[in-house]
Amino acid sequence: MTTAPPTHRPAIAVLTSGGDAPGMNAVVRAVVRTAIGAGADVFAVYEGLQGLVDGGQRIERFGWSSVGSVQHRGGTVIGTARSADFRTREGRRRAALHLLERGIDRLVVVGGDGSLTGTDVFRSEWPDLLDELVEAGEVPAEIAARHGHLVIAGVVGSIDNDMVGTDMTVGADTALHRIVDAIDALASTAASHQRSFVVEVMGRHCGYLALMSAIAGGADYVLIPENPPADGWEDEMCERLRAGRAAGRRESIVVVAEGATDRHGNPITSGHVRDVLAERLAEDVRVTILGHVQRGGAPSAYDRWMPTLLGHAAALEVVHAGPDHEPQLIGVRNNRVHRTPLMSAVERTRQIPGLIQAGDYRAAMAARGSSFTDMVEVFDRIAQANDEPSGGARIAVVHGGGLAPGMNTAVRAAVRFGQSRGHTMLGVQGSFLGLVDGRIDELAWGDVDGWVGSGGAELGTRRAMPRMEQYYAVSRALENNEIDALLVVGGHRAYQAVHDMHAERDRYPGFGLPVICLPATIDNNLPGWETTIGADTALNEIVTAVDRLKQSAMASQRAFVVEVMGRYCGYLALMGALSTGAERVYLHEEGVTLADLSDDVARMVASFRAGRRFHLAIRNEAASEGYTTEVMCRLFAEESAGEFDVRPMVLGHLQQGGNPTPFDRVHATRLAAFCVDWLSAQISARTGQWAFVGSDEGRPTAEPIRTMADLVDSALARPREQWWLDLRPVMAALATEPDAR
Ligand code: ADP
Repeated sequence: MTTAPPTHRPAIAVLTSGGDAPGMNAVVRAVVRTAIGAGADVFAVYEGLQGLVDGGQRIERFGWSSVGSVQHRGGTVIGTARSADFRTREGRRRAALHLLERGIDRLVVVGGDGSLTGTDVFRSEWPDLLDELVEAGEVPAEIAARHGHLVIAGVVGSIDNDMVGTDMTVGADTALHRIVDAIDALASTAASHQRSFVVEVMGRHCGYLALMSAIAGGADYVLIPENPPADGWEDEMCERLRAGRAAGRRESIVVVAEGATDRHGNPITSGHVRDVLAERLAEDVRVTILGHVQRGGAPSAYDRWMPTLLGHAAALEVVHAGPDHEPQLIGVRNNRVHRTPLMSAVERTRQIPGLIQAGDYRAAMAARGSSFTDMVEVFDRIAQANDEPSGGARIAVVHGGGLAPGMNTAVRAAVRFGQSRGHTMLGVQGSFLGLVDGRIDELAWGDVDGWVGSGGAELGTRRAMPRMEQYYAVSRALENNEIDALLVVGGHRAYQAVHDMHAERDRYPGFGLPVICLPATIDNNLPGWETTIGADTALNEIVTAVDRLKQSAMASQRAFVVEVMGRYCGYLALMGALSTGAERVYLHEEGVTLADLSDDVARMVASFRAGRRFHLAIRNEAASEGYTTEVMCRLFAEESAGEFDVRPMVLGHLQQGGNPTPFDRVHATRLAAFCVDWLSAQISARTGQWAFVGSDEGRPTAEPIRTMADLVDSALARPREQWWLDLRPVMAALATEPDAR
């Protein structure tokens, strides 16, 4: 041993290994800070598992500020590598020595299934490796005895989203952003020339990126490994593209996953798809292989807050683990941290290619998560242009409340999905009052082309809702237009209006139809579904704005109070704070007192004196009536002791603008399909129920609208129970250094 014997504090190491993925830095930051807060010594290993083999300066003690300002950076700041040495027993023996030199016997590994497998091999060999090191006189016996077990926790860093045991892998959401941005750009040029594009995306054996980007990018056809197309797929593909053109599409886009095959296991390449299209459609076809662009760039908002939760949980897992600890995969399920035995998750993941080979496509898709199979079917239905609908009902779609990015996506999916079920789909212009005025148009498949990724609301939305004296007019409008069912895509005001109309429904003959509300608001203040359509887009707008702000402010000593929307709901503020690494968040749910502000400013003065250059606080717009953003800034400036200046930044309506993110597009599509199916079933059963979208472990359900009164605090227009409030301890653990708390 070359260095001093370790202390008795737990010592942990964190490393990133295998392919890099955006969001790995957020994991590392959270692991380092959480572990320090929990009283552990923390080391970062540079260059992945190879760094363990090399030792020396590649294993570095990290402090609180070693991970300052890394969350917004792409890739991994501690480097990653593929290591041939670690595949050898000798390499792993050296790795064990280098860990013991520092008293480290707990590891958080962020990587793909290869890295996690390698680490588990290392863990199972650990006692033998220690015996060898003691025998060779390289490690004293008492040191080996003190560190008899290697504790490991894995976090999956992979853009492919290819791991069983977690809904999302770190980096997949960002990759989806890159792909969908590219498809949006290609779609606009393709439309100008009436051209077809074949887009090849990454994913190895996993079709997640291809399927979700096809949905979010409004593609015509997708080829994924889990669902190889039946023989004759070339004809089907060409037929679908022809039908789309006939229905008004100006461009065609086919997305091919890099691992796509036919049912005989023959690879389907993007070049083959191009040749088929060029020959049979006799038009200009271009191939775009996105390649490493998909891995690059700044992480999305989701790839900042979700990896932060995982890193926090992984650090606590290893710091508190006892000697009989079983290795865990720290993943995410329905927005919650979810632990799974590590190797069973890896093994189940590795079985998927076998399921595909055996032709068990359902099982292969099901292994990808509950929504994967649903989304394959939804995509097929909405991508296929329809003939005139027949035999179905008349279903109207209406918006209500504030604007939410993704409203257009939901209408597009509802129209196309509804038509695929034979229904006539109607769009109401100008919200409920437009309904009263009879501003109702039939929407055909081609009418909603291009709506998948456009911000705003083509149908228009308004905050004004019908008053009780207008209910009769609403009822007449529903009857006169022979509307059989109503899909309301909107926010709190729309939900409240539907609830209030439902309470009076027996008095109005037109109210006998089924109605369902689909949650669309940036505020995320609705009961039922946990992340409303539009909230992810708003969060990304916040994160982008704060990234710029940080860059501009780094040159001077400055504190910012950034005011974000959300009404009385602090979701955007808290998630914005977690995603941007803010030092403080002000929520209406917690309130703000003068004592809080005075503590805050004292801490700010101390930290600027100690060399800090930037302080970021995020304030929900309604956090406090008296301590407005302006008042807070004045108070901080007054008490700054000349150490820093203070600036307010009110983000305002840019949070509602912007094109919907892939997440909002995918969820808008999924929920719209669910709502149309539910309405269809209600029409057939003649039930006339009124509902809003709820969730059963992440699967959409329909909840009776009357229950809203119990679930929502109507004065504050927010749910009584808000799941994300449980994330406040993570914010507290990462924002302030323990000594300064
Ligand atoms: P990923 O972690 O992204 O799946 P790889 O499969 O390339 O990437 O694995 C990364 C590293 O993990 C490898 O370079 C190797 O050092 C280590 N590794 C993978 N599998 C094993 C194994 N069975 N035994 C030991 N080390 C392994």
